[in-house]
Amino acid sequence: MPKAYQLTKSKYCKGLNCPKALYLSVHQSNLATPPGPAQQLRFDEGTEVGILAQKEFVGGVLIEEDHTQLAQAVEATQTCIGDKSIPAIFEATFIHDGVLCRVDILKRNPDDSWDIYEVKSTKEAKEEHEDDVAIQLWVLEHCGLKVRNVFLKHINPEFICPNWNEYFMDTDLTDAARFKVLKEVDSFLSKQKLLLSQAEMPDVHLGSQCGNPYVCEFKDYCWKDVPAGSSLELYRSKKKYDIYYNQYEFIHEIDPKQIKLTEFQNRQWLASKQDEPIVNLEGIRKELLKLQFPLYFIDFETVAFAIPFLDGMKSYQRLPVQWSCHLMISPESEVEHIEYLVDVDSSDDPRVACAKSLDRLFQRGFGTLIAYHQSFEIGVLNELADQVPEFEEILRESVKNFWDLEQIFQKSYYHQDMAGSCSIKSVLPHFAPELSYKDLEVQDGGSAEATLNKMVRGLLPADEVQARRHQLLKYCKRDTEAMLVILENLLDLTKVKLS
Ligand code: SF4
Repeated sequence: MPKAYQLTKSKYCKGLNCPKALYLSVHQSNLATPPGPAQQLRFDEGTEVGILAQKEFVGGVLIEEDHTQLAQAVEATQTCIGDKSIPAIFEATFIHDGVLCRVDILKRNPDDSWDIYEVKSTKEAKEEHEDDVAIQLWVLEHCGLKVRNVFLKHINPEFICPNWNEYFMDTDLTDAARFKVLKEVDSFLSKQKLLLSQAEMPDVHLGSQCGNPYVCEFKDYCWKDVPAGSSLELYRSKKKYDIYYNQYEFIHEIDPKQIKLTEFQNRQWLASKQDEPIVNLEGIRKELLKLQFPLYFIDFETVAFAIPFLDGMKSYQRLPVQWSCHLMISPESEVEHIEYLVDVDSSDDPRVACAKSLDRLFQRGFGTLIAYHQSFEIGVLNELADQVPEFEEILRESVKNFWDLEQIFQKSYYHQDMAGSCSIKSVLPHFAPELSYKDLEVQDGGSAEATLNKMVRGLLPADEVQARRHQLLKYCKRDTEAMLVILENLLDLTKVKLS
């Protein structure tokens, strides 16, 4: 008899995405990478959205027992079910045949049937949510509950703060959940239980499931032995897993007559074959000659809230709260560094404060605004223009003057060290290894966003605020400094003199 393992709703869904992830999460959970600050922020926001959803069910009762008190949680749930004065149960807990599930919201109907509400902090129902609710339906019906409807309660994409009565939207997943219960759940559960009873970890190839629908917590572990230069570095290739496992382990081994490569992938192939960077000097020169003084090397940091607090904002709408700019007024002038970071003690609307700071910056006149991955900066400026009409004109004008440094690496320059990525952190070490982010306390955009989010919401301890501000300023400055250094290297390489 296989040992009876206790599956949970989330483990079941994990196992559908990747059996190895399920196996590891049960038998070797220590191999998981702990959530980083950005991921933890999303988890915390999910919890806050869940609590907000409970407010729609007045009189609902929370099952407070946590995962260490499951028997008591199941018992408390049954007590609530028996009490007809209770209209809804939050975190209702059920176990059937070794499968545990906690229902976010279980609503009692007048005919003694129940509606399941799974709460998500997304703006739409996604395919994977169907499995999430199907396993709940399976458990509850096996526990003898009459379930009438199954809903996904998610954020209404049209919600605008402060129309709180329009914050949530319910998507009816009853049919999808019933279909899965009928056709899939039993057989998937049997397979998962059998898998967990095996002594050997399943041999699962790396694949798109490692990063989709979310980055797997075991990715660092599973990918640690992938060699540099492997075909898994092929840029934006849907076939890279097949190529890697079934044809060519390394990019330099690929036969382009057998595998159709994009222009970018072809540069990757040439670079690995010749063991040197592939550079289109003429293409880079042509782009560099478009630059006009003053040159603004600019980078924004933003925050985005599931539950926004500023009137007129949507959920997850980007709010720029920090920028860094290295500025060259003319070829002869010294490079200036100018920066902005929201003052959380100010009573000013942060959107207006940021727009004002940019208005001051752009008073030097428009030349070229150099960004790395310009669609982000342009999007942020356009959204800010929508929100702050008094500065709309100058903000809209600014977006006409962008020049994207990333494009050089997408079209005209590839070095093997980039490992199939054009991000600034992949490009920078090749040009300026001394300028890495490793010496900084904040080393990536996700950590910066998590810190800014807490700072803006007043959740940072008062004695930490100054130190954190300093760290954030250093991080954002490094981004624009890196852009400046990369551009200087490209100018040297192409012998272009800007005038
Ligand atoms: S990293 Fe990929 S292969 Fe490894 S457990 Fe996660 S999804 Fe499965």
